[in-house]
Amino acid sequence: MTSTSPSAQPASETAVLEAVALGIPAALSDLGGLVRIPGIAWPAFDQSQLERSAEAIAALARDIGVFDDVRVLRAHVDDTDELGQPAVLATRAARNGRPTILLYAHHDVQPPGADELWETPPFEPTVRDGRLYGRGAADDKAGIMAHIASLRAVSEVLGEDFDLGVALFIEGEEEYGSRSFARFLRDNAEALRADAIVVADSGNLDSDTPGLTVSLRGNARFTLRVRTLEHASHSGMFGGAVPDAMMAAVTLLATLWDDDGGVAVKGMTSRESSTPTYSEETLRDEAGLLPETTPIGRDEILGRIWNKPSITITGIDATSVAQASNTLLPEVSVVISARVAPGQPAKEAYAALESHLREHAPFGAELDFSDIDLGDGFLVDTDGWAVGMTRGAMSDGYGRDCVDLGVGGSIPFIADLVREFPDAQILVTGVEDPHSRAHSPNESLHLETFRNAVRTEALLLTRMNARPADS
Ligand SMILES: [Zn+2]
Repeated sequence: MTSTSPSAQPASETAVLEAVALGIPAALSDLGGLVRIPGIAWPAFDQSQLERSAEAIAALARDIGVFDDVRVLRAHVDDTDELGQPAVLATRAARNGRPTILLYAHHDVQPPGADELWETPPFEPTVRDGRLYGRGAADDKAGIMAHIASLRAVSEVLGEDFDLGVALFIEGEEEYGSRSFARFLRDNAEALRADAIVVADSGNLDSDTPGLTVSLRGNARFTLRVRTLEHASHSGMFGGAVPDAMMAAVTLLATLWDDDGGVAVKGMTSRESSTPTYSEETLRDEAGLLPETTPIGRDEILGRIWNKPSITITGIDATSVAQASNTLLPEVSVVISARVAPGQPAKEAYAALESHLREHAPFGAELDFSDIDLGDGFLVDTDGWAVGMTRGAMSDGYGRDCVDLGVGGSIPFIADLVREFPDAQILVTGVEDPHSRAHSPNESLHLETFRNAVRTEALLLTRMNARPADS
């Protein structure tokens, strides 16, 4: 790996990068400490762990010594008396006409899933082959530590010359739907207001190539119930003369895709944009495709994932294999989870899906739609100065040109950020790489990627610190 030649780098940047290098062992040890706290926002888990986790992060933030104020705060879940999970908010005002940056990450994690699927225990941080394993090691406790470690290095080197305004916002329920997020933004709007917002909750093209996320797909998820009969019957009595609900459901669901496996729903749009080259071999490796199984869809592989819609059946309520008897099933429920191309409102994509299903319902099957959950995708405005500055910091931090990335998943709370702070430039960065397995067993962080992510953020803070706020 190469890096920008020292002669091209101002002395302060060289010193900041040295401070980053010296601070990495401490940052990893603090990250390990956070991984040991199983803070999960699902009601079935011990919620006091989120309080512990928030307090631990608040202590790390106070120790940096740059913040005027560090607090653990909760906001109400919109329109209810219920309080959301604890977030950390640390702020320092900008001085001498410098800009303010908001640094976001989240401290809650996904449930670990079955212990036996983990090679080492999920909340026991373990280093193997250049990676740190543990639930949250990447998503998103490494995002938190990238903020903390870069602030440590920058404040140490810049000292009295650190003029940049900073708001550090570490959410406590991102994996549980960010229920109090919108309200938190409104309650703390003044403290959170910034020229640029770094959302450190995404990934990179691979472990060596930095990526700035510029598009995210949206999502449309709902439950579909298919009914054909008033009651179940013996399949020997009426089979062949009346449709069972499973037959109607599978026939109907099959119309959602064309022969290539691409989405066949009229009105679900695609976005036109070029994508980096990504081979079928890499896809096979990263997705774990079986040797004889073929990919689905058409055109560039990353274009299919970043810019086109997709539809997945993620749940089905029907008789289990063990309980199966010779019965015509009267009703079947399925969960349909669609990814929506960036640029198309999720509402519009859902409307297209619902009318497709109604039009194609076979044998007059009765359809019922419920539990509709919609999240808009996102397209970054890439004209802003902070976007250019971030791309430059990434290229220098990783020693390799930064690429613009799309993400096939969604970060629904970004829509809330855009709504509350329409003038802020949104920079979606991250510490993950395609092998991080966020949300899955054996989640891990590539240590070299983490080091480069901290270098990047430290350079970004240093460069922003040298820039007037309003130009
Ligand atoms: Zn995350």
